[in-house]
Amino acid sequence: MDATGMRRALTRIAHEILEKNKGFENCMLIGIRTRGIYLANRIAEMIMEIENVPAPVGEIDVTRYRDDRSGKQEQAVEQVEASKSAGMDIQNKKLILFDDVLFTGRTVRAAMDALMDLGRPKMIQLAVLVDRGHRELPIRPDYVGKNIPTSRLETIEVLLSEVDGTDQVVISQQ
Ligand code: 5GP
Ligand code: MG
Repeated sequence: MDATGMRRALTRIAHEILEKNKGFENCMLIGIRTRGIYLANRIAEMIMEIENVPAPVGEIDVTRYRDDRSGKQEQAVEQVEASKSAGMDIQNKKLILFDDVLFTGRTVRAAMDALMDLGRPKMIQLAVLVDRGHRELPIRPDYVGKNIPTSRLETIEVLLSEVDGTDQVVISQQ
């Protein structure tokens, strides 16, 4: 996927969000860590261009780590740093979560947990630039830039101009 393909996919998602929600009233975009935040900001600009309404953008950090010291058994612990999002008012809002790549679904689950701790949203929707498959949880995106079925040995490289100087999605072999 090159820059043009990415722009077209994101433009389509912006239109789909507006169609599904009949505008953008009471909605908010939430970007997950670095690249999801850039994507959410791009969609907010497109929504402004299309409907001339402001789209608020919030962000959330989901950091996963393994805690090997807590006992004999290794325990996977997910730490969610919601500090940046602490001031967000999500009560009764329709939230559209953004991430670059959807894989097992665990990051999205952790993000939803963190959001629920901040309040009670009316609804949560999910948008991803790439769905690479291999879900381990019953999580399904509402908006997808591109479905790219991968093998476990392949990863998706997502380059965004804001951080990488170019817009590109490529499959890379490990
Ligand atoms: P999950 O939690 O669904 O297993 O993985 C999704 C998270 O890990 C996302 O935040 C995403 O950025 C990152 N991720 C997982 N697989 C890939 C991949 O193939 N490429 C990139 N760029 N990120 C990935
Ligand atoms: Mg990520």
